[in-house]
Amino acid sequence: MIENHQMEVNHHAPDVVMWRKNETEYCRQFFTAETWQRIRIHGGLKEWSEVVWFQLGVPRFAFITWLAIRNRLSTGERTGAWGQPQGCLFCGEPNETRDHLFFACPYTYTLWLEVVGTLLGRPPDPDWESTLELLTTHSYGRLEYLLVRLVFQTAIYIIWRERNDRKHLKKPKLPSQLARIVDKTVRNRITSTGYATKPRLRGLMQVWFLAHT
Ligand SMILES: [Zn+2]
Repeated sequence: MIENHQMEVNHHAPDVVMWRKNETEYCRQFFTAETWQRIRIHGGLKEWSEVVWFQLGVPRFAFITWLAIRNRLSTGERTGAWGQPQGCLFCGEPNETRDHLFFACPYTYTLWLEVVGTLLGRPPDPDWESTLELLTTHSYGRLEYLLVRLVFQTAIYIIWRERNDRKHLKKPKLPSQLARIVDKTVRNRITSTGYATKPRLRGLMQVWFLAHT
């Protein structure tokens, strides 16, 4: 039976190694990205993925936010399990957890209140899960949603950096000083988008200012 389906063999062409590109295609070139897609385990899309990954995001802020969402930042609670108990470096609360840092801590909540302004469309909640749920199941306008994610990620990044600076005994900053850094970082990012000339982003800076007047 199998003799009826013999492959046509070209004896003139040399044998070559081919890389599998997808289900049906093979090619001579090796592509790291395509191979990675073929061999990695594809997980379902997380409901919070839009909160972390979006076009105007800053990769290093997104990365720290991703770690925070997965509760993988090395907070005092986590390093405590290895024998290095550590409290909150902002307020002295004995157990430094992700939920405490973002934003149940009086210091970071003061900062969050100031930098998020009225962007959330409701009074900011110090509870981590509530904040994340609000950002995940949002009903924001396009520009507001860009900014709310940007300021959320920037605040997380700057808080984490200040926390690490304090750990290394650098001079502590006041919430108002940190708020100015967050504000400037967000405005620099808005400026770098060239928003004024892009129809989809026009008004981005105005929305930011309106939320902080
Ligand atoms: Zn604290």
